[in-house]
Amino acid sequence: MRDPAPQLGHLTYPELRLKDNLLDENPNVIQFQSKYGSFQLHEPPTTDLGTLSRLPLELLQQVLYQLDIATIVDFRRVNRQAFTILDSVPAYHAIAKHARNALCGIIAIDTGKWITCGSLYKKLSTPECETCGDFGGYLYLLTCKRVCFLCLSENPLYLPLRISHACQKFGLSSKIVNKLPCMRVIPGTYSPNEKKVARCILVDYESARIAGITAHGSISAMTRFVSDLQTQKDEKYNARKAAVLSLGDRSTHIRRPPALDPYDALSGNPFRFGAIARVACLDIATQELERGFHCLGCERAKRLPLHYRRKFIVASFKDHLAQYGGIKNGEHHLN
Ligand SMILES: [Zn+2]
Ligand SMILES: [Zn+2]
Repeated sequence: MRDPAPQLGHLTYPELRLKDNLLDENPNVIQFQSKYGSFQLHEPPTTDLGTLSRLPLELLQQVLYQLDIATIVDFRRVNRQAFTILDSVPAYHAIAKHARNALCGIIAIDTGKWITCGSLYKKLSTPECETCGDFGGYLYLLTCKRVCFLCLSENPLYLPLRISHACQKFGLSSKIVNKLPCMRVIPGTYSPNEKKVARCILVDYESARIAGITAHGSISAMTRFVSDLQTQKDEKYNARKAAVLSLGDRSTHIRRPPALDPYDALSGNPFRFGAIARVACLDIATQELERGFHCLGCERAKRLPLHYRRKFIVASFKDHLAQYGGIKNGEHHLN
């Protein structure tokens, strides 16, 4: 692991002492990860890959690089020769070594068919959060995006939706939504608030939004369709309720239509953590891992741009100090 520059060490600290209950901290995923990692070849391969053996190794490696995770994991199970060839793909080797938690998380939540070996490798070796540009210490494994804590816990893009919610919010049929990137939630405890989640299927927010815009032709057409449908449901509900009350019946419960946007507790919303793994960034040139670090001047701050959850690397930390001043008594001071 790479340390911050020695001259910055007294202004920074490596990790928060908080448990965020991410996907890769779920006991089922940890158990699967140790099984996946412990599997080693004790004997050399005795059979080849049949017809595939006619291809040059380099070509086979290129094909495996471009295949999706679900397929390469199936390929790995074919025989010992397949296992050896997959492990010889540099990108897969780096993933299995440095991001095995993400790889096993993808297999566990069944999102491997939407993520290629190459795209996971690229995200492993990219330091910035794709949404805000800060150092991103996590991967969102539903569509494989590098993300920081503040974006994963606050941005709608990283809130996977229940199928019914996505249909309602973007005016889609379940037939369309079922074809979008979806994840299987591994039951367990998620988020710093330790919320329990049962088995369910969630769909990627952005994929559902784009499908909605495509189906309706424009954002405004989609918004109008959804709003009109919601008004009709509300009117129907009010009419039924009035009819029941006019009969003097107070025992019949009429179910209110679900809200378009149920309450989102942000960092307390367990759905935001069920596809998240903590993954350091691999510097391909040096093969060192960058985990980022926190700023001592922001240790007690909770409002952006100063926030205790932000992480930096040396270059971004120097910019941060230049912008908000040096640190005295645990706070930034501009001269
Ligand atoms: Zn971010
Ligand atoms: Zn700071």
